[in-house]
Amino acid sequence: MEATRARGLSGFATARFNPGRRLIHAGALFPASTERPAVTRRVAIVGAGVAGAAAAYRLQRAVDVAVTVFESRSQPGGRAATRSREDTVYDVGANYLSLPDEDPGRIEQLVEGPLADDLVTVDGRVWTVDADGTIEPGRDEGEPKWTGARGIDALADRLLATTDAIVACESGVRGIAAADAGWAIQLDGTDQTGHSAAAEAFDDVLLTPPGPTTAGLLDGVAGAARLRDAAAAIDYRSITTVAARYDRPLDLPYYALVDVSKSRPLGWLARESCKPGHLPDGEVLILQGSPEWSREHSEEPDRTVADDATALAAALLDRPWLTDPDWIDVVRWRHALADDGLPAAVADRAPEGLHVAGDWVAGEPRLHAAIRSGLDAGAAIVERQ
Ligand SMILES: Cc1cc2nc3c(=O)[nH]c(=O)nc-3n(C[C@H](O)[C@H](O)[C@H](O)COP(=O)(O)OP(=O)(O)OC[C@H]3O[C@@H](n4cnc5c(N)ncnc54)[C@H](O)[C@@H]3O)c2cc1C
Repeated sequence: MEATRARGLSGFATARFNPGRRLIHAGALFPASTERPAVTRRVAIVGAGVAGAAAAYRLQRAVDVAVTVFESRSQPGGRAATRSREDTVYDVGANYLSLPDEDPGRIEQLVEGPLADDLVTVDGRVWTVDADGTIEPGRDEGEPKWTGARGIDALADRLLATTDAIVACESGVRGIAAADAGWAIQLDGTDQTGHSAAAEAFDDVLLTPPGPTTAGLLDGVAGAARLRDAAAAIDYRSITTVAARYDRPLDLPYYALVDVSKSRPLGWLARESCKPGHLPDGEVLILQGSPEWSREHSEEPDRTVADDATALAAALLDRPWLTDPDWIDVVRWRHALADDGLPAAVADRAPEGLHVAGDWVAGEPRLHAAIRSGLDAGAAIVERQ
């Protein structure tokens, strides 16, 4: 077994990405600020997860707004993350997008609209496993579950690709500060936007990293102490994901198993072969440790973590050969799932032009909640004009 590498960029970005350039998308038409049309408002979005991407998508529909997205990682997606190796792609964070029970409309519009060409539905249902290992069909009635044909990171990729936003990857934000005419962005490293965007003042700034990270960005910002403290107080569960590749198929009557007892070391076991386009043959198992198991293994090397996870899967499914994968990949999500949400009154009282979005703002650690939060933040920015 050997370590895998994060793949390049998916969807539109693969076609456009030039290795060594960290500006992955500057809009099709406007490569530099001097060539952009006059704008009345400049908006900075920190974080290119699905919330930040949805906000950029919503803002695209407003005239005279120029959007710059600052993303610390090398590609958009955030926790909707995909990796690739050889001819295999696999989702290492969120597994699929589903419709919310209440108010599905806006997510449906995206799925049937800008995301339609990129999405595939997962083939198979989620069954349950209980504390003693009993596996049953559970309550999944076959509601659609979507991922990208080349991975779930297509969600953010595609939404951003519909915009003229400047998307600067490897552009971690260290903090923000009130400036004469709005907000200034302080970067960790050099400006990757291609036109010194960080030197500009932005009329609005939208922060989408997980609560505790957002709190750090608000240190010293006048009027934001309440928001900062509330963001810092959001509790998260950590999850370690193990992806294990096998050259032989794993024949099972379900796509995934969820531990409904919340007492087992693995909380989730899923088969990437049920996602059209992800692998040509064999299987990739996605094994997500429970928060407790993930914490207990947090200091152990990837190989040890993967050995334990695959042994647990082999025992649960009664397939001893699962202990011997072709290769493994391990991803540790410190801020995986928020346990609570930001009180609306706190977000409402943020200083003028300062906004937050994300699953932790929505109070539900799901893709659809993060997307809706981003759409809402985009709408609030438009309304402030
Ligand atoms: C293991 C796992 C499994 C999951 N499974 C599912 C599932 O099956 N279905 C589902 O609906 N949801 C699932 N979720 C939850 C889902 O992934 C999240 O709710 C959603 O992705 C949150 O999106 P977001 O945009 O709010 O935040 P994020 O995805 O965290 O995006 C924040 C972005 O900000 C960037 N950032 C952070 N700090 C900085 C900085 N200082 N400067 C610049 N950029 C910064 C990050 O790199 C990231 O790209 C899962 C999550 C995990 C971890």
